[in-house]
Amino acid sequence: MRALSHKTKPQLNTERLIIDFNQLAAIGATIEGGVSRLALSNEDLEARAWLAEQFEQAGLVVHDDDAGNLSGILRSEQPDARTLIIGSHLDTVPNGGRYDGSVGILGALECVRCIQEAKIELPFHLEIINFTDEEGCWQSLFGSRALTGTLNKDYALTLNDDVGQFRAALFRAGIRPSDVPRARRDPETVLGYLELHIEQSYHLDEKKIDIGVVTAIVGRSTYMITFHGEASHSGTTRTADRRDALLGAANFITEIHRTIRQRYPDGAVNCGNVTVEPGAFNIIPSQACITVECRHSDRDMLDSMQNDLQALAQTISQQYGLEVEVNCRVQMPAAMLSGQMILAAEEACQRVGVSHMRLQGLAGHDAQIMSSFTPTGMIFIPSVNGISHSPKEFTEWADVVKGVRVLLETIMVLAENAPRD
Ligand SMILES: [Zn+2]
Repeated sequence: MRALSHKTKPQLNTERLIIDFNQLAAIGATIEGGVSRLALSNEDLEARAWLAEQFEQAGLVVHDDDAGNLSGILRSEQPDARTLIIGSHLDTVPNGGRYDGSVGILGALECVRCIQEAKIELPFHLEIINFTDEEGCWQSLFGSRALTGTLNKDYALTLNDDVGQFRAALFRAGIRPSDVPRARRDPETVLGYLELHIEQSYHLDEKKIDIGVVTAIVGRSTYMITFHGEASHSGTTRTADRRDALLGAANFITEIHRTIRQRYPDGAVNCGNVTVEPGAFNIIPSQACITVECRHSDRDMLDSMQNDLQALAQTISQQYGLEVEVNCRVQMPAAMLSGQMILAAEEACQRVGVSHMRLQGLAGHDAQIMSSFTPTGMIFIPSVNGISHSPKEFTEWADVVKGVRVLLETIMVLAENAPRD
């Protein structure tokens, strides 16, 4: 390890951090105490403008890429320096919480200001990034996919029923859809990615542990499954002649939950939506379309869950005299985070003097996209009662501060370990 050239140790300014937190939480604030800053909405654009102003005030280089990712960069004077990216997202789900995404952005901002104030010369450029549409209002993890070059060429067409609105929203945010692939970066220029985030689950809160060092992020696959039957009179059609699409879908839902519980105790399945045609009291449903999501942190297990799901859809459709279409909409493999980042975060926890444990991320994050592009680490802080995506989302302020301290110290550990000329 080498000593870094610095005059003083970086010190967090927690008062400045809380002012930032309150200012950001006010943008898109809801009456229930939550935040609605849907990606590319007026509120999201307002939050980006606010963040760009903070970057400017801090004297950082402000950069917008072609996918709308907004960065503030503290440049290293070292020749051929690579970039350590730290960040998260400003966008939220409708009436979401004040901590999801925000903590990672504000924590990163505070760390960079502290490093600057302590006049520390880092061996890498330090870039704070706000990724576009992490939550998937239009397309989930849009910004990180664009940066890593993993966005589908026809991204606007594949997942959006209303392509026109998505294009319009992109244009309105100053993003030209045809330019988005230019956001792609060369992984050689990037040293790694680090993200501070709330856990969104209950492990840290229940065990009263300060910090979660994330080792893996669950894989996720989503499906639209449409059962086709035949509409006919609900009173006069014989039981044997009925081809009830909804009855098939309902049985599928019950059976898939039972199968996953029994065979994949560490996995999760959710059927979150059903649409029925023609949708009348007295007509047997001719079509039932359900959305299904599967999650598992083990790639092989997730594959196996998906095979079971497809087989079950076929079995049920035969049992009920139906036809079935199974369309996979999202395939997100489980992500392993970097051993080097895990060790750096653990070392940082020890230096800061906080309790820590390794755990898995059960929600989607830009970090899982970044993990196949550059060494990636994630630091979790507790979510009270594991609640997120809700105005009730809450993290004790002391835990937010501990998380930011660990993020700062992790950057310092990486700086000490980075090769220098
Ligand atoms: Zn998030």
